[in-house]
Amino acid sequence: MKETDVIHVSKDRPEKGKYVKPLFRGLSFIFKNFLTKPVTLQYPTEKTQRSQRWRGLHRLEVDEKGELKCVACGLCARICPSEAITIIPYEEEGKTRYPKKFVINELRCIFCGFCQEACPKGAITLTEVYDYIDYNRTDFIFDIEKLKHPEKLEFKGK
Ligand code: SF4
Ligand code: SF4
Repeated sequence: MKETDVIHVSKDRPEKGKYVKPLFRGLSFIFKNFLTKPVTLQYPTEKTQRSQRWRGLHRLEVDEKGELKCVACGLCARICPSEAITIIPYEEEGKTRYPKKFVINELRCIFCGFCQEACPKGAITLTEVYDYIDYNRTDFIFDIEKLKHPEKLEFKGK
């Protein structure tokens, strides 16, 4: 919106009986904008395009067999400045190590992205999901199941 489009009601108040010009100014403003594309988005069904570097809720990535890529090395938990990640590793003899428990406290997280940077397996990424809402604090403590499907947690309205 340009400065010329703004009508300062108190400053430009016309003298008594001289309302026709301001009335047409107002009407012309309405008609001009009536024909332009609205900028309003119907959130939550419509959402703005997020930057590729956006850092939203975490995702634990899986391989083509659907297995977690995470090998529970603990680097992400070590580097996390908020101490938001808790991992309990598990390893069967001769088999790959994996996380028995992998928990992220999304309320502590500052979405810095260090965990994603530090992971040697590309096993944890930050997604575009930014509008998860809930009523209980405990619901923001994400376990493996929640971390595997953050897109399910996106707010889509009722
Ligand atoms: S994004 Fe940053 S604060 Fe959040 S879990 Fe990862 S390292 Fe920790
Ligand atoms: S750094 Fe990667 S592989 Fe290591 S525990 Fe974290 S998510 Fe798993």
